[in-house]
Amino acid sequence: MDTLSHAKCVICNDRAKGYNFNVLSCVSCKAFFRRNAFREDSLLCPFVGKCNITLLTRKFCQKCRLNKCFASGMIKEKQKQNKDHINT
Ligand SMILES: [Zn+2]
Ligand SMILES: [Zn+2]
Repeated sequence: MDTLSHAKCVICNDRAKGYNFNVLSCVSCKAFFRRNAFREDSLLCPFVGKCNITLLTRKFCQKCRLNKCFASGMIKEKQKQNKDHINT
């Protein structure tokens, strides 16, 4: 049984691709969060800051999408310096 194939991204409801940044999410949200997690302050909601983020609307408002990422439990990764495979 491949339960993950039915998993939904908690941010946009797209098909999830496992856990990214601590949260069950799709590749799109994963890439989005990686790109935008550290520029939170430069994003602005064009509406009233309460956009409903779905598969269709996720591209309309980066601010609310990012907020939803954080609200869902996504965690900003610091620059990884102590990756365990670096052992040479
Ligand atoms: Zn998503
Ligand atoms: Zn918004």
